[in-house]
Formats: sequence, structure tokens, C-alpha cells
Amino acid sequence: MEKDEECTDRTIHNKMDEFHQTLGLLDAAFSYLSILQPTEDEKRMAREAVDALSKNWRKMGLGISLKAHGMEVHTCDFHDKWGIGDKEESFIEQGHQMGIKENRWYHGLKDFKKKTESALKVRSIATHPPVMQERR
Ligand SMILES: [Zn+2]
Repeated sequence: MEKDEECTDRTIHNKMDEFHQTLGLLDAAFSYLSILQPTEDEKRMAREAVDALSKNWRKMGLGISLKAHGMEVHTCDFHDKWGIGDKEESFIEQGHQMGIKENRWYHGLKDFKKKTESALKVRSIATHPPVMQERR
């Protein structure tokens, strides 16, 4: 990549400061959103944090990805109704991975109900604490 003559150290510095602010706002939004069974006050704080993040995100000219849109428009409504603190992403990601494995393992099972029951059984065994311990 060619070096832009117009890009001074000052410009880079300012940009890094802006990113620093964005990351701080992301952190704040995630901490408020991860509170389990949030009070009305905590829900309001989560919404304020998401709004501030949203404004900063747009001011920075960052792309509005599907995740950014979800955060900006839908997360707080969902959080207010059901809370999202217990719906942790790593668990959902893990679920996706397990889903793929289950499909491979139960490829032969044609009957959907049978397939689902087997998958749920494997999942409950796989996430059972003593089994998790064993895997470490
Ligand atoms: Zn939408």
C-alpha cells in the first residue's frame, strides 16, 4: 500500500483516539447488556450505552454490518423484554458447531423427531459439568 502524503502522525493519532473511544463504548454496551436480570435502571443504562456507541459508530463512518444493525436497532428491545446476559455468544457459537457435528453424526436418521431427541441427548451429555471437566 502506498503511503498517503496527507496522512500525518497527528491524523493517525487522532484516528487511534477515535478507535479507542469506540472500543470503550463497545465495552460499556457489552457490560450493561451482560447484566443478568437487569433492573429498569440497568436497562436504561444499557440503552444509553448502545445509543452512544451507535452515534460514535456512525460518526466514525464504520460499516453497518448485520451485527451492528442488530445492536443498534434490536438488541435493547429484546434485552428489555427477556434480557440477553444469559444468552452468551460463545454458547450460541458452540451450539452452531455442535449442530454441525450432530448433523454429521445423525446423518443416517431420517425421522426428524428421533434425530432431534438424539441431538438433544448428546447436547445435554456434552454440556453436563462432569463431562466438561473431563475434556479440559
Ligand atoms: Zn432489523
